[in-house]
Amino acid sequence: PSGSEPATKIVINLERLQQLPADKVGPLARYAAAIQSQRGDYNGKVLSIRAEDLRSLAIIYDMTPGELTDQLIDWGVLPPEARPSHRVD
Ligand code: C2E
Ligand code: C2E
Ligand code: C2E
Repeated sequence: PSGSEPATKIVINLERLQQLPADKVGPLARYAAAIQSQRGDYNGKVLSIRAEDLRSLAIIYDMTPGELTDQLIDWGVLPPEARPSHRVD
């Protein structure tokens, strides 16, 4: 088995998130906005979230945490280095 490992350090690119269509990223964007609100953290270009939150989001997106990690990298919401199995082959 290759790839599809869940991200270990999840740092969401908020500027990229805002550029993507709501029908794709709506649930993630609302989740990130809720965390920003709970923290009072509105000034960042990025938002660090819990590994546990990735698992919750994966359920919402009906994916495994690893598959959601790959999806977020494809969207540019997470950097490629977020994938633990990332290799520079
Ligand atoms: P880092 O974790 O590599 O984060 C680098 C920068 O990304 C941070 O610089 C901040 O500008 C931004 N950033 C990352 N996550 C968030 C977030 O959830 N919200 C916002 N608004 N910005 C975020 P900063 O703040 O100067 O922090 C520099 C370094 O200090 C961080 O590097 C980290 O090593 C440490 N640090 C800061 N806050 C925390 C924290 O709450 N927990 C831990 N363990 N380390 C922290
Ligand atoms: P809480 O879970 O009871 O956490 C209380 C405080 O503990 C947080 O206040 C923060 O200062 C600290 N804390 C807890 N876990 C961590 C962690 O993994 N890293 C760091 N750097 N600090 C941690 P804060 O930030 O004002 O958050 C208030 C409440 O907002 C939290 O209460 C929680 O209910 C919610 N929240 C904030 N960020 C997140 C998140 O990323 N995911 C989830 N699920 N809830 C969050
Ligand atoms: P971080 O602050 O560098 O924390 C790294 C890991 O240390 C967290 O991974 C968690 O496993 C543990 N940790 C740190 N502080 C606490 C705490 O107060 N209580 C508990 N039970 N564990 C703690 P995790 O959960 O995957 O979080 C990743 C990053 O997300 C954190 O890095 C922090 O930047 C951010 N984060 C998570 N929860 C909160 C929160 O409630 N408030 C804020 N401001 N940031 C949070």
